[in-house]
Amino acid sequence: MTSIVWIRKDLRLHDNPSLYHAAEAGDVLPVYIFDEDEEIGAAQKWFLHHALDSFQRRLDSVGGKLYILKGSPAKILPELAEKFQASSIHWNRQYEPSVFKRDREIGEALYKTGVNVNTYEGRLLLPPWDVKKNDGEPYKVFTPFYKALQKHEVPQALPSVKKMDTISFNKKDSLSLNELKLLPEINWTAGMEKRWTPSEEAAVRRFHAFIDKKLKVYKTQRDFPADEASSALSPYFALGLLSVRSVYHTVKKTAEAAGEPFLRQLVWRDFAYSLITHFPETETDPMNDQFKHFKWMDEDDQFDAWKKGKTGFPIVDAGMRELWSTGYMHNRVRMVVGSFLTKDLLIHWRKGADWFDDTLVDADVANNVMGWQWVAGSGADASPFFRIFNPTTQSKKFDPDGEYIKKWVPELREMPSKHIHDPSGAPEDALKEAGVNIGKDYPKPIVDHKAARLRALDRYDDVKK
Ligand SMILES: Cc1cc2nc3c(=O)[nH]c(=O)nc-3n(C[C@H](O)[C@H](O)[C@H](O)COP(=O)(O)OP(=O)(O)OC[C@H]3O[C@@H](n4cnc5c(N)ncnc54)[C@H](O)[C@@H]3O)c2cc1C
Repeated sequence: MTSIVWIRKDLRLHDNPSLYHAAEAGDVLPVYIFDEDEEIGAAQKWFLHHALDSFQRRLDSVGGKLYILKGSPAKILPELAEKFQASSIHWNRQYEPSVFKRDREIGEALYKTGVNVNTYEGRLLLPPWDVKKNDGEPYKVFTPFYKALQKHEVPQALPSVKKMDTISFNKKDSLSLNELKLLPEINWTAGMEKRWTPSEEAAVRRFHAFIDKKLKVYKTQRDFPADEASSALSPYFALGLLSVRSVYHTVKKTAEAAGEPFLRQLVWRDFAYSLITHFPETETDPMNDQFKHFKWMDEDDQFDAWKKGKTGFPIVDAGMRELWSTGYMHNRVRMVVGSFLTKDLLIHWRKGADWFDDTLVDADVANNVMGWQWVAGSGADASPFFRIFNPTTQSKKFDPDGEYIKKWVPELREMPSKHIHDPSGAPEDALKEAGVNIGKDYPKPIVDHKAARLRALDRYDDVKK
């Protein structure tokens, strides 16, 4: 029996259902197709390049060979099935709305030509249609979703693929990784190289280091960016270098009750996928209809200052610079910069989401859309619009000594903790001593937060009417 395994966001040997079942059944052709229509941002492309490189080596080590192509999967997969006389095709499902629709059409077309199509859950704890209310409706609020998910049994992770027989193919027919041109022409990736090792082995190592050293303080310290107490596993989940099911079961077994706050976050990810599956329009439209009429602003200069980390609000600037440098930003800071963009600057959340998509190594449509709609106040179970984060207060609370700010905004390194959260409000002598000239070394705030807050609340009153 000969099967094709369509490799996508599942670049791993462990708990990889499509690869595992195909390898058990007979000869396999593992195929990766780079589809330019499937949008992927620049930072994640860099991660993908290295993740594919390491996945190729992992496959080699168990007897596999990755066949790499570029183009439309709808055209390529039937051609391959015919060329290699494949009787079946296997893939792990993806749930981005346009991808899910496309894949269903591909599956139907292949089935009509006599190819057996097998799809699997390899991305989530449970398929997004499994956790529903008693009346069959999807959840829009997290806590009941979380409780309902806990009543289901999350399938155990499958063993790693240890050996496979690959259908032989002419090497010249497969592209080399470099031909996919995933790496940027100008090298701006030093910060990402320093922070990430995009491989399955590194993902597993990071996970075990997290369990050993950070899980016990996760609950109390995960909100403090300088502590780096969260797992930083998101880029590995995003491209499937790590199985969320295996992480879930390992934490459940080893940490028991202490693991609950972390498991809860994993379930937020399933919740995001449930939302994007059942409400696919929320990728672009507000979940809460009231916001359809919200009047967003189009201030290019302010948007630019936000992207570059030059807003004059240190915690916002630190977050945006961490993002630019490493392709990652701490969750609490994502909320702060998101609130600042959508409420202080009144810039559409979709613009922020697009910037995140392009710059995050963990860019993930479901999580990103849910995160942005949450901060903008327009989403399911969202923080209400009128609860507007004060960036200075957030900074004092979650980065009390300004450690995180000092790391990413070096021009403020000499500022005393007392004034680092609001340098433009610091007395002249403190600024002088720290060598900071506001407006020259570090920008003046681009908005007055108090006034911006009132302006946002006025806009919100308009939509309520
Ligand atoms: C505006 C905004 C945009 C976001 N965009 C993305 C995105 O594109 N990709 C992405 O993976 N996450 C996104 N998040 C969610 C969250 O910030 C990241 O998942 C988290 O910071 C990743 O760090 P970590 O792996 O250390 O998380 P941990 O705290 O260690 O959590 C473990 C895992 O749980 C999941 N998780 C944690 N928090 C959330 C959450 N709030 N929503 C959904 N899943 C969660 C992630 O897969 C994460 O890796 C966004 C949040 C906001 C507020």
